[in-house]
Amino acid sequence: MFGRGRTGGVLSAPAECNVAVLGTTGSGKSALTVKFLTKRFITEYDPNLEDTYSTEEIVDQQPVVVKVMDTADQHRRAPHLEGCQPYLDILALHTRGEAPQPPLILLGNKVDMERYRQVSRCEGVELASRYGCLFFEVSACLDFLSVQQVFHEAVREVRRE
Ligand code: GDP
Ligand code: MG
Repeated sequence: MFGRGRTGGVLSAPAECNVAVLGTTGSGKSALTVKFLTKRFITEYDPNLEDTYSTEEIVDQQPVVVKVMDTADQHRRAPHLEGCQPYLDILALHTRGEAPQPPLILLGNKVDMERYRQVSRCEGVELASRYGCLFFEVSACLDFLSVQQVFHEAVREVRRE
């Protein structure tokens, strides 16, 4: 999953940050988005639903409007590490030569299902470093604060640009 954004402050209005949540179907993009917006975990969500939600946040004492785009991919990709590589490749292709590079976060979800883990933390860290992303692991059904932390980190990355 990857955060990408751009700020655009107008006078005293809070800056905006756009975050696009990309990933394979079933990886938990909607669950994470809804968790961030409502603090709740919803178990079933229409996998074809795609929407953008807005929320006013305070990140490091500064207000920001975070627009979260929860995407739905029509291609059915494998829900493994190999499944998320095409997204990284497409992003790399489309942002080639851009300076600064749009910030990316590689996010592993469902850490509550540790015993069914298919991707080691190490593999995640390695893939993230290959594509110049930050890397986190979370769960949409565990604590709200670690999910919020990831989205706030996306805002910080955008501010660093
Ligand atoms: P999306 O297609 O990427 O939007 O995936 P969804 O958000 O619809 O989630 C797919 C399925 O995984 C749903 O049944 C969710 O309840 C479940 N799910 C999502 N996140 C988690 C998580 O962190 N832990 C567990 N155990 N299940 C999750
Ligand atoms: Mg979804």
